[in-house]
Amino acid sequence: MSTNRFHTPVLVIGSGIAGCTAALTLADLGAEVTLISTGTRLDTGNSPLAQGGIVFKAVDGDPRLLEHDIMVAGHHINYRRAVRQISVKGPQAVQGILVDRLGIPFARSGKPQCEWDLTMEGGHAAHRIMHCADYTGRAIMDGLIAAIEEAPNVRVLSGRTAVDLLTTHHQARSNEFRYQINNQCVGAYVLNEHTRSVETMLADVTVLATGGVGQVYLHTTNSPNAIGSGVSMAQRAGVRIENAEFVQFHPTALFHRSQRRFLISEALRGEGGRLVNGAGEAFMHNYDRRGDLAPRDIVARAIVEEMLRTGEDCVYLDASQVEQDLEQRFPTIYQHCQDMGIDIRVEPIPVVPAAHYFCGGILTDLTGRTTLDRLYAVGECACTGVHGANRLASTSLLEALLWGRTAGEDIARRLHRQRPMSKRLHAAIPDWQPLGDERNDDPALVAQDWATIRHTMWNYVGITRSTGRLRRAFEDLRDLSRHLHDFYKRTTLSKPLVDLFHGCHTAYTITQAALRNRQSLGCHYRID
Ligand SMILES: Cc1cc2nc3c(=O)[nH]c(=O)nc-3n(C[C@H](O)[C@H](O)[C@H](O)COP(=O)(O)OP(=O)(O)OC[C@H]3O[C@@H](n4cnc5c(N)ncnc54)[C@H](O)[C@@H]3O)c2cc1C
Repeated sequence: MSTNRFHTPVLVIGSGIAGCTAALTLADLGAEVTLISTGTRLDTGNSPLAQGGIVFKAVDGDPRLLEHDIMVAGHHINYRRAVRQISVKGPQAVQGILVDRLGIPFARSGKPQCEWDLTMEGGHAAHRIMHCADYTGRAIMDGLIAAIEEAPNVRVLSGRTAVDLLTTHHQARSNEFRYQINNQCVGAYVLNEHTRSVETMLADVTVLATGGVGQVYLHTTNSPNAIGSGVSMAQRAGVRIENAEFVQFHPTALFHRSQRRFLISEALRGEGGRLVNGAGEAFMHNYDRRGDLAPRDIVARAIVEEMLRTGEDCVYLDASQVEQDLEQRFPTIYQHCQDMGIDIRVEPIPVVPAAHYFCGGILTDLTGRTTLDRLYAVGECACTGVHGANRLASTSLLEALLWGRTAGEDIARRLHRQRPMSKRLHAAIPDWQPLGDERNDDPALVAQDWATIRHTMWNYVGITRSTGRLRRAFEDLRDLSRHLHDFYKRTTLSKPLVDLFHGCHTAYTITQAALRNRQSLGCHYRID
């Protein structure tokens, strides 16, 4: 057997909170898992960037109140059963995995009524968010990665970029499988970034946990790998994608000339920070009665309108009235701004909106199963129906954690019940056929194509959308996608090319969904 080809019971693609939780759950239940991730480290996704926190439960602990807040933020197009699942079982997962199993050092209150220092963010009617100062995601990922590294039955392979899913309908070279009505996922083709060869990873079950899509926009808070590769691969394999038009823009990213915009957490407004314009006037109450704690889509549009009204490049977040010690409560933000020459204790922080969170994604059920047999999706790349048209702050880490665990448990049960893939099916899946041998990953070409994608998405498929803008984006991205498809056929694969192909496909998918949906709702806002 070639060294580029192997079989694993479970292949998990992506090592953020969702992928690591799924892998750890499976390992704890005795399953063998292969966890792959693009780049050299496991913590390259959005998870370690999360600042604000993770939803737990308010002191009175009634899950119906959380359910209500999630439904209101999602404009009631959420899937009620998924919302109930996260409201009831989410806090149990935080307690079981993060507190009891991993011992994540969440901030404590020092008060008898509640062990934890619970904070609040926009759209929440109660204090129910647990945090580790403002580096919650980093603390969770440190705990998860340490546990993964200790788990003997998790094989970790970094420097691996998934290229395409393997399915019986698309790849099997045998009539026995091609004529079966039921299409099945049997693993993935994966680019080994060290050897530049494509590996055939056959799996009884495959889990997509590839994270968000923010990098297809010009301004984003997301990590460089957030290009929607899972969505792009799933769509090519014929899997149902849902709610792709709902991209949430975070209202407050630091206004600065770097590519990735540094997030200024909503928790700062939760603790008393106020948005002001260049003249120092607080303006949020002119746009919404909830003022600075209105849901994100409303705050983001209010900022854009205020910028248009005043002709300024940004607005400001004034944290001088926050009662807590800013250096202690928000050390990451404090230090980052300090490095940029801004003392947030006395100076307002210049902020603009930026693409932040993908509310849609690969459609899954309550256990993470997708519409393709043997394929699961968890975390930000999945659409469980929890978020509907918009996400309530700090519910995404929770959704990734809960569905990571639930999918892991469901897969473990399935592995016990079902027979593994047959040898005949293994044999029917061919290795990757290099399509062409032209070496053509000229950085200038790749950079220009990315610039086209990002400007098109920001200007035409951004915070405010119209039919004219969306049609133009649709045509431009369709042409680029066709061009890349032809180009792909002539060229030796490389990571920059695979990423570009995934990114273009994701942008096209979002645009198509936005064009189809004529109704303004949540973070999909049409001006016509
Ligand atoms: C700045 C910032 C702050 C945030 N703050 C909060 C917060 O306070 N609370 C909250 O609930 N949420 C927050 N979020 C959102 C939350 O962090 C994410 O939704 C969540 O971490 C997503 O987890 P994930 O496991 O799905 O994806 P990620 O953590 O993004 O992991 C995706 C993984 O997939 C890998 N990958 C991608 N493509 C491929 C490929 N083709 N092949 C192989 N591997 C691949 C990546 O390298 C990465 O390891 C924040 C997000 C950002 C960007």
